[in-house]
Amino acid sequence: MRMSKLYMPTLREVPAEVEIPSHNLLLRGGMTRQLVSGVYTYLPLGYRVIKKIEDIVREEMDAAGSQELLMSAIQPKELWEATDRWANFGPEMFKLYDRHQREFCLGPTHEEVFTATIRGEVNSYRQLPLNLYQIQTKYRDEKRPRFGVIRAREFIMKDAYSFDRDLEGMKNSYKEMWDAYDKIFTRLKLKYKIVQGDSGAMGGNESHEFMAMSEVGEGLVAYCDKCDYAATDEKAKVIYEVENLEEEMEELEKVHTPNATTIDDLEELFKLDRNKFGKALVYMAKGEPVVAIIPGDRELNETKLCNALGIAEHELELADEETIERISGADKGFTGPIGLKEEAKVLIDSRITKMKNLIVGGNETDYHIKGANFGRDFNGEIVEDLLLIRKGDKCPKCNSEIQMDRGIEVGNIFQLGTKYSEGLNLKYIDQDGKEKYVYMGSYGVGVSRTLAAIVEQYHDENGIIWPLVVAPYHVIITIINTKKEEQKLLGETIYKELLDKGIEVLLDDRNESAGVKFNDRDLIGIPIRITVGKKAGENIVEYSLRKDGKRIEVAVDEIMDKIKEEFEKEGLEI
Ligand code: ATP
Ligand code: MG
Repeated sequence: MRMSKLYMPTLREVPAEVEIPSHNLLLRGGMTRQLVSGVYTYLPLGYRVIKKIEDIVREEMDAAGSQELLMSAIQPKELWEATDRWANFGPEMFKLYDRHQREFCLGPTHEEVFTATIRGEVNSYRQLPLNLYQIQTKYRDEKRPRFGVIRAREFIMKDAYSFDRDLEGMKNSYKEMWDAYDKIFTRLKLKYKIVQGDSGAMGGNESHEFMAMSEVGEGLVAYCDKCDYAATDEKAKVIYEVENLEEEMEELEKVHTPNATTIDDLEELFKLDRNKFGKALVYMAKGEPVVAIIPGDRELNETKLCNALGIAEHELELADEETIERISGADKGFTGPIGLKEEAKVLIDSRITKMKNLIVGGNETDYHIKGANFGRDFNGEIVEDLLLIRKGDKCPKCNSEIQMDRGIEVGNIFQLGTKYSEGLNLKYIDQDGKEKYVYMGSYGVGVSRTLAAIVEQYHDENGIIWPLVVAPYHVIITIINTKKEEQKLLGETIYKELLDKGIEVLLDDRNESAGVKFNDRDLIGIPIRITVGKKAGENIVEYSLRKDGKRIEVAVDEIMDKIKEEFEKEGLEI
């Protein structure tokens, strides 16, 4: 492709709300454009990368025995009602009406549609297992679309669904998809971890997330470097050594604590460690008040709270000040488990039941209570673990220290069991002549999010550094001065030769300064660079790689060997 013809609208400035490198570089490099919040266009360079990611996903899915098809984005309400998800999926679902006032949604995911599609067609054990996938556009009205295509409202996903006779079959399919994902993300050159996930609204049993490690990732990964334990912060079980277990129980004592509304204030006032306090958090769960009591030095894990309450995350919100005042009879910051003014569900993290003589909110403005002990002074429903994990906690598998890092979730695999086949009545006749529900799994790859995750891991201050395998073009030839006939001629000759060899080449034949051309080629991150300059007359060019920038002079007839060498190093064929 000639850059004089290429539609590559690069930008000097990006909007102020752009927070992370990939968002910035994809916009500046003329690869994506925002249409409205969370909705993006993939421009020619960006779309070439998307297609390369899709090709790798396709190859590995096909190799794993999954078959590609394409479903519609528009889905009828009735299917979602059958699995109770029309009401429960929450505000992320884009809903619409047709001219007859019939209701639809724009698919945020396709469990229902896949299940309903094969129902009636698949009815014998002979037709199972079956694995189907598509690469398709998904719609989710995200609460906070941000980070460009990482959290978009319209995005490209590969979603696959497996159908098996029984639990064992489902676990088998799960393992096959796990292996396929391993291959996909390895080929995409991502540094990633496979972590246990929370199954959340999808329901079902086991799930794992594929996390591309990045400091801008929205996901927190808890992992152990002594064993293979890794889980999302939502899922990770919190184990740590709780202190003040053995003390004698003291008398309850009301203490005047004016304006001490936070754990920081209390620490300062009492000159005591944070773990001497019991923290109360007030939420509304499906409109009902809930008070969670956790150790003062820890943070609450909202996913675990939702799971304990059996609700979806969008059904939980922090209570407003008015509600808090009504429940505790005091200003915000003085809520505690003793003497709540209004009936509220009280959930207690199990560690609180072992800790002695806690200082808790007094349910009276400017007062706390000292010497509070579970069982004697307050009660509630005990939940084993309501806490957010942090570095230094103990690994649930081997007891070593937990480490924490950030990651971008690029893929997700779920064991669904029979939730969807029961909801939508997908049954088959087994070998024993009995009718049984089909066991399912679902498997997603965020194709467009992966585009950005690669940029997060492969960039520097000047731009993107595409791995060869997904680069929009393999090679860029820069003609330093297009007015010099010999430079132009040599550039054109090399361009044609490389094209003939099947290499994807950009020829920078624009009438721009060398500075502009160099900046652009750094920005758009083409891996292999050939610069045609002063020594064109001697058939000598400069060869360099975007990733290290080291420049060497090579004779024109050596170029192909250098390129081949680079392809081989990356494990690719020309
Ligand atoms: P997240 O926790 O990031 O919201 P999710 O658990 O809702 O993700 P899934 O329903 O498992 O995501 O979707 C499968 C894959 O689709 C995810 O692993 C992710 O890569 C991608 N994905 C999900 N939501 C978005 C989005 N809003 N924009 C871009 N990609 C997304
Ligand atoms: Mg989501």
